Amino acid sequence: MTRALVVGAGMAGLVAARDLTAAGAEVVVLEATDISGGKLRAGQVAGVTVDVGAEAMLNRRPEGTALARDLGIALTHPTTATSRVWTRGALRRLPRTLMGAPLDLDDLAATGILGPDGLDRARHQVPQPLDGDVSDISVGDAVAARFGDEVVDRLVEPLLGGVYAGHARRLSLRAAVPQLADLLGREEFTVPVPTGDLPPVFAGITGGMWQLPAAIEADLRERGAEIRHDTTVTAARRDGAGFVLTTSVGEERADLLVVATPAAASARLLGDLAPAAAAELAALDYASVALVTLAFAADDPGVAEALDVGAAGFLVPPVDGRRIKASTFSFAKWDWVRDAGSGLLVLRTSLGRHGEEASLQVPDEDLVRASLADLAEATGLTARPVDAVVQRWGGGLPQYRPGHLDAVARIRASVAGVPGLAVCGAAYDGVGIPAVIASARRAAAALL
Ligand SMILES: Cc1cc2nc3c(=O)[nH]c(=O)nc-3n(C[C@H](O)[C@H](O)[C@H](O)COP(=O)(O)OP(=O)(O)OC[C@H]3O[C@@H](n4cnc5c(N)ncnc54)[C@H](O)[C@@H]3O)c2cc1C
Repeated sequence: MTRALVVGAGMAGLVAARDLTAAGAEVVVLEATDISGGKLRAGQVAGVTVDVGAEAMLNRRPEGTALARDLGIALTHPTTATSRVWTRGALRRLPRTLMGAPLDLDDLAATGILGPDGLDRARHQVPQPLDGDVSDISVGDAVAARFGDEVVDRLVEPLLGGVYAGHARRLSLRAAVPQLADLLGREEFTVPVPTGDLPPVFAGITGGMWQLPAAIEADLRERGAEIRHDTTVTAARRDGAGFVLTTSVGEERADLLVVATPAAASARLLGDLAPAAAAELAALDYASVALVTLAFAADDPGVAEALDVGAAGFLVPPVDGRRIKASTFSFAKWDWVRDAGSGLLVLRTSLGRHGEEASLQVPDEDLVRASLADLAEATGLTARPVDAVVQRWGGGLPQYRPGHLDAVARIRASVAGVPGLAVCGAAYDGVGIPAVIASARRAAAALL
């Protein structure tokens, strides 16, 4: 029987393991921590179980929703509450945009997000045809060339910050927002206003997204695969036609190897096997973030008036100089969170952007205090939380710089030169859960 080792029990490793198991391989997943799921994880705040990592997935890509259905998990969707932008001293409605690039300039004007000069520049937009041969530029540079800097600073930055915790002027247009690349060159910057019953943009799971990896793990065990926690893989080498892994608890051998770890670990493991891929992966930067989950008593004076205002939360442009970069009013975004925390309003803030790791290197209480101070200023909230939980994600999100797609092509070419080896995960084709699942399925298919 073919034996396969999968390094990393995040979504990528678990999904690759599932496909390999289904194809009849004997699969062992090796995971450094004591729990599967990677960036999908449960935490407790005031006795309520919530996600302290990823909390939703795109519904308009099939991979995540199809997997959940296959596992018998019922999906739910966010409420219709929308996010605001906290900028220029007020919480303002988010206009229609494509990742921050405005689709309706009158709508943008009505929000007050831009000052008069910024709005004037946006109205004098200059189409930016991108030559197909020009390799890649940053999202921020491309949008600024068409709409001006303030659109980037007050709209693109907070929206991209929410997904990548990165900076618009350092993230690849083609890798991070490919839909924009084409549209920015057109005379009319517009997409049809949706009509009729479109499927919701996002899906979640009642009780939390962390249940998705938990269900894959249970399914894997049922099918005879092994998942070993507290097992850090420190080195990999060729052994005839197979592989030998050195781990914190001994050596493991296999015919097939899937490396499903973040780039720094993958670079270390591929150093001997695929040095060109290892060098590219070692150069991929990550942003660290922290999530602070807070629970407030709904009947505390002023709490509902400040928070329960029909918004799903707000985003904060870096140019406004606040500590938090976003707050998600989980109780307003997800019916199940409101129901689970009876008498409580549970929300979270997120802090940390690429290159600002030092701002997170403070005690948990400082991150809670900074969150409360910003929430107070944005919403008028003065109550103390009943409970607060800090989850740190050091090296949480890869930063796709301009040229990322070419780098990934070189990584795949290098890995393809080693029969039996495959790589997958958020470092390659997208950081969202569906994209990570797709990369894992591609890795398993390449081996099969
Ligand atoms: C705070 C946060 C919020 C997010 N929110 C969303 C969201 O709402 N929706 C969405 O679609 N995406 C979201 N994302 C992105 C998405 O969750 C991740 O990109 C995705 O889950 C990454 O999966 P992965 O398997 O590639 O990597 P990971 O989840 O990082 O898994 C890698 C695993 O490998 C293990 N590992 C590392 N090194 C070794 C080693 N040497 N030996 C053994 N094991 C090792 C790690 O412990 C980990 O378990 C979020 C990300 C973060 C950080």
